[in-house]
Amino acid sequence: MNGGPRALSATFNRMHHIALHLLYSSNQTVTTLFTLKQLHVYLLKAQLHHLHSKFLLHCSKLLINPSYASSFFTQIPTPNSFEFNTIIRILQTSGEPQQALSIFRRMHDENVQFDHFTLPFMARACVELSNLGLGQVVHGQAARLGLDADVFVQTSLIELYMGCECVPEARQVFDEMPKRDVVAWTAIISGYVNKCRDMGVACQLFEEMPDKDVVCWNIVISGFIKIGDMGKASELFCNAPIKDLLMCNTIMAGFVTVGDFEAAYKVFDEMPRRDVVSWNTLISGLVQGGLFNEAISLFRRMMKEGIELNEVTIVSVLSACAQMGALDLGRWVHSYIDRMGFRVSVLIGTALVDMYSKCGALKVARQVFEVLSDKDVALWNAMILGLAMHGKSKEALEFFDQMEGESVRPNEVTVLGALCACSHAGLVTEGQRIFRSMGSTLGLKPRLEHYGCMVDLLGRAGLLNEAYELIKGMPIEPHVGVWGALLGACKIHGNVELAELSFERLLELDQRDGGYSAILSNIYANAGRWGDFARVREMMRERMIYKEPGCSSIEINGEVHEFGVRDKAHLRSKELCKMLEEISRRLKMVGYVAKTSEVFFDVQEEEKELALCYHSEKLAIAYGLIHTDSGATIRIVKNLRVCGDCHTATKLISKIFDREIVVRDRSRFHHFREGSCSCGDYW
Ligand code: ZN
Ligand code: ZN
Repeated sequence: MNGGPRALSATFNRMHHIALHLLYSSNQTVTTLFTLKQLHVYLLKAQLHHLHSKFLLHCSKLLINPSYASSFFTQIPTPNSFEFNTIIRILQTSGEPQQALSIFRRMHDENVQFDHFTLPFMARACVELSNLGLGQVVHGQAARLGLDADVFVQTSLIELYMGCECVPEARQVFDEMPKRDVVAWTAIISGYVNKCRDMGVACQLFEEMPDKDVVCWNIVISGFIKIGDMGKASELFCNAPIKDLLMCNTIMAGFVTVGDFEAAYKVFDEMPRRDVVSWNTLISGLVQGGLFNEAISLFRRMMKEGIELNEVTIVSVLSACAQMGALDLGRWVHSYIDRMGFRVSVLIGTALVDMYSKCGALKVARQVFEVLSDKDVALWNAMILGLAMHGKSKEALEFFDQMEGESVRPNEVTVLGALCACSHAGLVTEGQRIFRSMGSTLGLKPRLEHYGCMVDLLGRAGLLNEAYELIKGMPIEPHVGVWGALLGACKIHGNVELAELSFERLLELDQRDGGYSAILSNIYANAGRWGDFARVREMMRERMIYKEPGCSSIEINGEVHEFGVRDKAHLRSKELCKMLEEISRRLKMVGYVAKTSEVFFDVQEEEKELALCYHSEKLAIAYGLIHTDSGATIRIVKNLRVCGDCHTATKLISKIFDREIVVRDRSRFHHFREGSCSCGDYW
C-alpha cells in the first residue's frame, strides 16, 4: 500500500525536488505544457510562493499561450513586482496590450512599485493601443519615480512618442538624455525615418551618432529608398563599413524598383553571401520589369547553385513563364513543387492556373483549379480570365455565376474577365447585364478598363452609337483604351464620322499615336476617300509615328526563342529560309493569295513595309515546324494582334502540315486546327 501520511509526504518531497530541479535548471527541461501543468498544480497546493515568479518566467521562455500564464498569475494571491513585470511582458510581447494594461492598473491599485522593467513594456503597449493619454501617464510615473534618467526607460519613451507620432515630444526626451546608447540613437533616427519621413533631420542625427551600428545604417539607407532617393541611398551603401545581408538585399530591392537592373546585378554579384531573399528580389524584379528571359536565366542559375526555392520564387518564375509562354519550364516548376512536397497554396495555385492558361494549356489550368480547396477571388479571376482569353466565353460566365454559390465576392478584375468573355464572343445582352450589376448588386464602381471593354463589346457588335453614348455618359474622363476601342470598332464597321471623332480625342490624350493614324488611314481607304488617306499618310511620315515592333516567341526544349519582324539574324539561317519557302510554296498550292491590302494599309498590327511572309509569327511557326516533332503542338506568343493575313495563313498551315498551332496575341488565344481557328474569325 502506498497510502498513509508518510508516503504522501515522501511523494511531496520528491515532487518538490523535481520542481526545484525543473525550475532552476538552465537547460529547458520544462518543455511540455503537460509538465508545466503538473508543476502548476503542485506549486499552488504546496503554497510555494517563492517559486511562482520562476514558474512565470518559464511560461514566458516557452512562449506558452498568454492566457495560460495569465490564469496562473491570477491564482497568485499577492504577486510581487517581479511577477507583475513578468506577466506584463508576456502579455505585451504576445500581442495582448489591452490585458497588459489592465494588469498595470491592478499593479497601480495594489501599490506595487513600478520599476524600469515595467515602464518600457507599458510604453510599448500604449503604442500598440495608440493610447497617447496613458502613455503620458507612464511618462509621469517614470518622472515621479526618478526613472526618467534611465536610458532603458527614456528610449522606450522616445519609441512611445514616435509611435504616437508626437515627434517634438520624442525629440525633447532624446535631447534631455544625459547619456545615450546605440538603442536610443536608433530609436530617434528610426522615428524620423519611418514616422515623419524627415530624411534631412534623420541624416543629420545619423552623422552625429557616435558609434553607428549596421542596424542604423540599414534604417537610414532604407529611408532614402522609401522616398525614392536612390542616389543618396547608394552613396550611403558605398560608405557603409559593414554591408550585411539585409543591407545588400534592401539596396538591391531599391535598384530593382527604379528599374536599374545593372546596379542591382552589381550588388548581387558582389554579395559575399546570398539568401533566398536576394535571389527572389532580383528574379521578381526582373519579372516586374518585363525582363522575363533574364528572370528565367537567373532562375536557372539559382537552381544550378542548389538554392532551395520558396513560394516567392515559384510565383515569380511561373509568372515569367506565363508571360513568355514557356510551358515546358512552367511544367518543370510544377513538377518541382510536387517532387519537393511543396504545399500548393492558393497563391501558387493561382500562379499555376495563370501560367497554364497563358501558355495555352487550359485543360491543365482547369485541373489545378478544381483540385484547390480554398479558392480565393484571385484564383477565380485567373481561371475566368484564362477561359475568356481562350474564347471559352460560356464557361467563363458559368464560373462567374458559380462564384456566388461558393460565396466568393467578385471584384473589379472578375467583372473585367467576364466582360472580356462577352466581348470575345459578342454576347451583348449578357455583357450589359454584368456591367449593370457592378453598381447594383456587386457594389463596384466601373473603372476605365470596364468602360473600354463595354465600348469594345458594343462597337464590335455594330452598336457604335450605343458605344458612343456610353462614353459620353462616363462619370470619369475616358482614356486611350476607351477611344481606341471605339476607333477599332469604326474600322470594322466603316464608320468614318465616329472614327474621326475618336481619332481627335486619341491624339489629345496620346501624342505618341499608338498606330491610330494607321487605322484612320485604313478607314479612309476602305471608304474610298483617297484624299484623306493621303493626308493622314503624309502626317504619319512627317511625325515618324512610333510603332511597337512585332515580336513573337516560341519555346523549344525549355528555351525561349524570340523573333522580330524580318529578323535578320534568324533569316541568315538557311534552314529557316528553306522552311519559309516551303510554307509559301505549299500555301500557294492550296490557292492562298497574300492579302496585299494588309501589307499596305494595316500598319497598326505590324510594320507593313515588309513582306507579309516575314511577320514575326510566321518566322516563329517556321522555326517550330523545324524544331518540334511532327504532330507536336506549336505554341507561339505574340506581342501585337495577329493580322488578318497571318490569321488566314496560319489556319491553312495548321491543315497543310497537320499541326495544332496555338497563338497567344495581345488580347486572346487562337487555337488553329485543321484549317480553322477557335476564335471563329472574331477577334
Ligand atoms: Zn501578320
Ligand atoms: Zn483566331
